[in-house]
Amino acid sequence: MTTEKIPYKIYLSEDEIPKQWYNVRADMKVKPAPLLNPGTLQPLKAEELAPIFCEELIAQELDNDTAYIDIPEEIQEYYKTYRPSPTMRAYHLEKALGTPAKIYYKFEGNNTSGSHKLNSALAQAYYAKKQGLKGVTTETGAGQWGTALSMACAYFDLDCKVYMVKVSYEQKPFRREVMRTYGASVTPSPSMETEVGRKILADHPGTTGSLGCAISEAVEVATKNEGYRYVLGSVLNQVLLHQSIIGLEAKAALDKYNITPDIIIGCAGGGSNLGGLISPFMGEKLRGEKNYRIIAVEPASCPSFTRGKFAYDFCDTGMICPLAKMYTLGSGFIPSPNHAGGLRFHGMSTILSQLYHDGYMEATSVEQTAVFEAAEMFARTEGILPAPESSHAIRAAIDEALKCKETGEEKTILFGLTGTGYFDMVAYEKFHNGDMSDYIPTDEDLQVGFNGIPKFPGNEF
Ligand SMILES: *Cc1c(COP(=O)(O)O)cnc(C)c1O
Repeated sequence: MTTEKIPYKIYLSEDEIPKQWYNVRADMKVKPAPLLNPGTLQPLKAEELAPIFCEELIAQELDNDTAYIDIPEEIQEYYKTYRPSPTMRAYHLEKALGTPAKIYYKFEGNNTSGSHKLNSALAQAYYAKKQGLKGVTTETGAGQWGTALSMACAYFDLDCKVYMVKVSYEQKPFRREVMRTYGASVTPSPSMETEVGRKILADHPGTTGSLGCAISEAVEVATKNEGYRYVLGSVLNQVLLHQSIIGLEAKAALDKYNITPDIIIGCAGGGSNLGGLISPFMGEKLRGEKNYRIIAVEPASCPSFTRGKFAYDFCDTGMICPLAKMYTLGSGFIPSPNHAGGLRFHGMSTILSQLYHDGYMEATSVEQTAVFEAAEMFARTEGILPAPESSHAIRAAIDEALKCKETGEEKTILFGLTGTGYFDMVAYEKFHNGDMSDYIPTDEDLQVGFNGIPKFPGNEF
């Protein structure tokens, strides 16, 4: 054991940035269920995915066995411009809480996109370029993913077409301009540019759009334009793989000081940051080498893990994407307009769903005003202005630290601080003005979503 004081920021050197991603599926005894073709209900083959996704990314998506995958040099070169990200000791927060717990957080907001999403955007843009494609299409809701992808496409000289949910496009003009600065075209969705957009506008004049609708438009544009593919910023196995860089760095930093976390906490929207943060720790747990408490935190308004069903379901509202076996609220579930845009997805990563189902991790849900109370406390003590999504993890970390205060236990807590909240000041304003509500869906509300989960033999839930 070292007696040295643990620094506020544990930085790795540039040379210590991991050169391989870690694929936690390799250590899972029960593998995540395969994606199914919604027409045939058979596992999707690589060739069926090829018109939509890039080849190399499909290979990563389907690879349940290779534990370590080399990070191509070109991606490493860009990672070096904003990584390693710091692993921070929250001394000031600990003091304010009066807890004997030791709190660490891995901060992923130190790049212009303001979140961890750049880690996967770079990988996806790189493989698209390597395949000789002209460009990629995607959807964005709150805008973090679109921003990260725009940056990655600028770097690898690819065209980037972003379909942005119309309400966000109008309410977040600054996000839009950041994307355009990096050269992306940003179209409010639904648009008149696509068949599906025109149909939705004809059926629902004046609609402000949804993520599901934006996905449908982005997929249509990718499949109808030569040299384009569709990319997605969360949920998929490949995205968790790329995000494993978060956990690998955090573990390397903690290992330097012989620190072993007792509890690891992350917010969960589609599961990519949490999956990435926990991957190397979960690997040890799966191999029986170590034990950790791992906690997923989700909004009480969109409780996929804590109140959802474990079943095959569509990933999009338009029901054009493959079926994934996951904890889901049903693809038709529309969460109340809470302010953590990145946590409003109805489903969850199939990897995390299987791990949760098999008892390797826990989940909890938190209410919005409690989240913003935690965000404000964190900003005032640690100085970083957290994203509302990230603040779900802060809330749970604070709650665990307060339990330690009661019991006197000196537990070590690690949580993922996924990003900054500069574009979320309308939400902070609502909180400060006392205008924020804590909507929790009733069982009846949830049943409406569950009714839309496809029914077929073997998909009982
Ligand atoms: C997108 C986003 C999330 C949620 O996505 P996951 O795939 O669950 O990680 C969390 N925090 C921030 C800042 C985000 O942008």
